[in-house]
Amino acid sequence: MEISDGKAVHIDYTLRNDKGYVLDSSEGREPLAYLHGAGNIIPGLEAALTGKVPGDKLSLSIPPAEGYGERDDGLVTTVVLALFPEPEKVQLGMGIRVQAEQGVRPATVIAMVGGKVTLDMNHALAGQTLHFDVEVMDVKDASEEEQAHGHVHGAHGHAH
Ligand code: ZN
Repeated sequence: MEISDGKAVHIDYTLRNDKGYVLDSSEGREPLAYLHGAGNIIPGLEAALTGKVPGDKLSLSIPPAEGYGERDDGLVTTVVLALFPEPEKVQLGMGIRVQAEQGVRPATVIAMVGGKVTLDMNHALAGQTLHFDVEVMDVKDASEEEQAHGHVHGAHGHAH
């Protein structure tokens, strides 16, 4: 069965950055299950998988625009440390959630100087070209429930 919108797809994958460093992989885990056409995975990967069948292997390099987007300096902001609910717990490099105009967003603390904290709300992989090795493991029709939810449910029933 070919991959098309509305299919529940299982893939094995390894993701590397430009330097060949492995950022993420399904190796040693269950394959990644996603609902094709629902935006569960980045656009460049979803587009490349369309029409593929189980056993197909792909190696692709996905530019930022088709991945997690370009870095946006407008998403870097500096705030006063004392405004945090628990300022003593804030550390360099830590991931936190912040209330932004667009809603709650994940951010990373990238600098702490003079009672001020600089937060980066860009996705950690924004601006990066992503190198994927992917193998299609399984393709089947998604259930009506999965299509209604916009994601694939686990092998052991509804888990949420
Ligand atoms: Zn669900």
